[in-house]
Amino acid sequence: MYLVIRCGGCRTFTYVDRFQQWKLCANCGETIDVRRATVYLEVEDYRVAESVVAQLEEHLHRTKKKDLTREELDSLRKQYAQWLRSGA
Ligand SMILES: [Zn+2]
Repeated sequence: MYLVIRCGGCRTFTYVDRFQQWKLCANCGETIDVRRATVYLEVEDYRVAESVVAQLEEHLHRTKKKDLTREELDSLRKQYAQWLRSGA
């Protein structure tokens, strides 16, 4: 499992293996404490994690928002659950 999280320093989305405790942000060099980070989504595959990270960045850029709302986060999780069930 991989966790989609966000850097507390520069707010860039990234992902880590769920057993990893620390992640060095490739963008700003901040050490992210994974246990204290907000987990946006848990996914099975790092390729899916990469794609979710790209989608989140794109979404916030497009909507000019700083973060996802509670509803957006719920809808993201539902979409992912649906996608899993569809067996894609
Ligand atoms: Zn950063």
